[in-house]
Amino acid sequence: MRYVFLGPPGAGKGTQAEMISRKYDIPHISSGEMLRENVTAETKLGKKAMSYMDRGELVPDQILIRLIKDKLSSPDCSKGFILDGFPRTVVQAEALVSILHQLELKLDAVIYFDVPFEELITRLSGRRTCRACGINYHIKFKPPKDKRVCDKCEGTLYQRDDDKEGAIQNRLNEYQRRTKPLIAYYRKEGLLITVEGGKEISKIFEELCRIFGVARYE
Ligand code: ADP
Ligand code: ADP
Ligand code: ZN
Repeated sequence: MRYVFLGPPGAGKGTQAEMISRKYDIPHISSGEMLRENVTAETKLGKKAMSYMDRGELVPDQILIRLIKDKLSSPDCSKGFILDGFPRTVVQAEALVSILHQLELKLDAVIYFDVPFEELITRLSGRRTCRACGINYHIKFKPPKDKRVCDKCEGTLYQRDDDKEGAIQNRLNEYQRRTKPLIAYYRKEGLLITVEGGKEISKIFEELCRIFGVARYE
């Protein structure tokens, strides 16, 4: 199974990708998480990406394309993958076509998470992230047992700088301007499946399992 999860920041892509990855035992590839790992490790790539991320702007296409190409070419992605947060621009979508072509692979579908705009702000501003494993919680909608500690790995929870007010607005603007055109792009390719992402976490998960259950894989 090879899927792209598309949608605005806060739509629930990471939350669902994590659950699907566990159920179907395929890698969850989060471009944001890969970038944050590079920032923490202070790699050359991380240093370049950091200023864009802090401002809530998209990181230059070529950086992401190289990162994702290496990842998709690795053996653990041969069984399938969920791409969460990539592509985010038409240039990235076109690069993905050529990466997959070289690997002789095809996408099954692109799942678009459709969520009302006001809901995104509530979700992003209440999000808490585990410093150790990257999993997301929400202070109201998905509270951890202890508000400072990750249920899964006991890592420390924190609020991402870009989940604070100024950056949230920039991210939503970047989404409107640069990522939203991908909806039409994938619809035209016949790959788009829209999921109503405003519902409860468990309801959306059930719907995704239904979609994955009926799809045919090579
Ligand atoms: P994305 O990866 O699309 O940016 P996340 O999966 O990180 O989104 O979700 C954003 C925030 O909203 C997180 O705090 C998460 O716990 C919460 N969340 C995710 N899905 C839902 C949902 N269906 N209803 C309410 N809150 C949700
Ligand atoms: P969210 O889950 O809230 O949508 P991510 O964790 O996916 O946020 O991304 C965090 C930040 O990392 C983005 O605001 C952007 O700066 C950068 N980023 C992640 N993926 C991409 C991408 N495909 N293209 C450009 N920048 C990206
Ligand atoms: Zn954790």
